[in-house]
Amino acid sequence: MDAPTIVAARALWTPSGLLTDATVVLRDGVIAEVRPWRAGDGDRVDGLVVPGLINAHTHTELSHVAGRVKGATPGFVPWLDALWAVGAVAGQAEARAAAAASLRDHGTAYVVDVSNAGDTAADLASAHLRGVVQHERLGFDARTVPATIASLVNEPAGAPGVVVRAAPHALFSTAPELVVACVRAGPKGVPSTIHVGEAEDEARFLMSGDGPHAELLDRLGREWRGWPTPGVGPIDVLSRLGVLGPDLLLVHGVLLDHRAVLSIAFADAPVCFCPRSNLHVGGLLPDVPSYFTAGVRCALGTDSLASSPDLDVLGEIPVLAAAFPDVPVSRWLAMVTHEGAAALRATGVGEVAVGARPGLLQLDVGRVEDLGRAAPARRWIVAP
Ligand SMILES: [Zn+2]
Repeated sequence: MDAPTIVAARALWTPSGLLTDATVVLRDGVIAEVRPWRAGDGDRVDGLVVPGLINAHTHTELSHVAGRVKGATPGFVPWLDALWAVGAVAGQAEARAAAAASLRDHGTAYVVDVSNAGDTAADLASAHLRGVVQHERLGFDARTVPATIASLVNEPAGAPGVVVRAAPHALFSTAPELVVACVRAGPKGVPSTIHVGEAEDEARFLMSGDGPHAELLDRLGREWRGWPTPGVGPIDVLSRLGVLGPDLLLVHGVLLDHRAVLSIAFADAPVCFCPRSNLHVGGLLPDVPSYFTAGVRCALGTDSLASSPDLDVLGEIPVLAAAFPDVPVSRWLAMVTHEGAAALRATGVGEVAVGARPGLLQLDVGRVEDLGRAAPARRWIVAP
């Protein structure tokens, strides 16, 4: 066994809060001990030492359109049209690999990456990231849905530290049977994910079967009218389908009312917020404190470069800190570390705790509160 690695910190971020003058002892990257600093431990690292970060939602495969998709139109369907209007752009594979490297350079240790082809695991592993590739499925065509469901047992193998599993895109794009099959496809303990409460017309589509989503599906020639209109909002739809719960990470949650948030809490479903993307696409932010009050387990994600300026999950914090000044900045930091990991049921990452292999990152800030002003410079002290 190699000699232990000793990291002495002036400020160390742990699930129990901030420790001052603390030492972390690691063996082969695994934390063996967390204890008060003593003179023999060497110089203390300045700034704030945190575990490798958790980015709970992105799409690295959209990185080739960075900076090209106009937003704040406002509206999800106009944004989607703007995304499609970019059309074919050279260098998609290179942009995707560069995005994985950029996640890592921003201090990410664990990522949830949504992919239409389900084939980004090798890029993530090459960048030494761990996480989940969510192989996204959608479609309403009753002639093809059974074959898509049958295909869910044959997910690509993934890569070291990266699991591939099925994910439904959204309730306005995916047949209900397919939503259920994706969530239940497993593997167990690795939540699937769905976009919900992101688009202002989602509830209208589900309640009455009309509006911009219906028009979009008609324009695309999709066979959606054979499915019954649920007549209830998105969280009630998920609840009726039996998939609202710990196995489904709900992404966005911008346009959900108080009753829906309570349903999410009672079902113990985790939620991921992507505030900068929401501002770009629709000009709105989720009411995150209402989720806290209800006791929902929360994470943060950057979403993709089609709606976000970068893949730095710490870049979400200043936006949230400005919008919700009563929330302690430490709460946002928890969401990109141990709380985020717990929401994803990812073990051994996102926390400075004995037995974990989170990687350690030095943030160039004097206090945790500084993260509310701007995303800081950082460097890896211990690679994850
Ligand atoms: Zn997304």
